[in-house]
Amino acid sequence: MKMNVRRIVLTLLPMVTFLFLTLPTSAGQNSDSLSLAKESQHFAFYATKGDLGVLDSIAIILENNYDRITNRLGIQIENRIKVKVYPDVKSFHAAIHHPDAPDWVVGSCMGEELLMVSPLNPGSVHNYKSLMQVVVHEFVHIAVYYACGDKAVTVLPKWLNEGYAQYEAGQVNEHIRKTVEASLRDKEPPSWKQLNDASAMEFGHMNGYGLSVTIVEFLVDTYGMDKLVSLIKEPEHIEAIYGMPENALEKHWAQYIKHEKIE
Ligand SMILES: [Zn+2]
Repeated sequence: MKMNVRRIVLTLLPMVTFLFLTLPTSAGQNSDSLSLAKESQHFAFYATKGDLGVLDSIAIILENNYDRITNRLGIQIENRIKVKVYPDVKSFHAAIHHPDAPDWVVGSCMGEELLMVSPLNPGSVHNYKSLMQVVVHEFVHIAVYYACGDKAVTVLPKWLNEGYAQYEAGQVNEHIRKTVEASLRDKEPPSWKQLNDASAMEFGHMNGYGLSVTIVEFLVDTYGMDKLVSLIKEPEHIEAIYGMPENALEKHWAQYIKHEKIE
């Protein structure tokens, strides 16, 4: 039993990150050891000496994804986005004001700052490669915030915000799809509203990340990216955008995941 839980945590949670759009800045006292170490076209990187060697790789992956995401959302970001790379999980958790957060919490954004654990020292759950996806994931959250402003905090459903960030960051894979399919065959999934109402921790524990990315993948594959972008900008108009009520879409998603005929 214990082994099972451990396995699930390791396989389902690695993409998980925290989102704190409402907090103005990271904790100042914990940023003191970070200093401006590199600038790329659209980003400014803050790190300790030990992480200088990884900044080029982080910059390349962010710049390679920048145009696709900003064009998709139809936004222009005026300032360079600050990327703060913390040397370990502990200092990162202190910076996001969650000193007791579990090790799978490795990325966040606060206002227009992107905070992450160093890919060189990713802790017990993540690895170098998954941190390189996390950095794109967090940038997507910032871009979505630009695209819909306060709506990103007040109206945008958690499943859409998290699902889209994972989708753009390439954090969906066959293992996640199969796990979600098995869970949907097992029992009724949480409703999209339940996903939205969950706290960050509850969301992680109910496999909210896995479920969410499959919802976004279903919406894009079935109805196209343009409608998804419309939904991100005007989530309150879901029924008008898709021509059916949310619960009908939910039903179609479950059928899609289980490879059943959509009706
Ligand atoms: Zn996220």
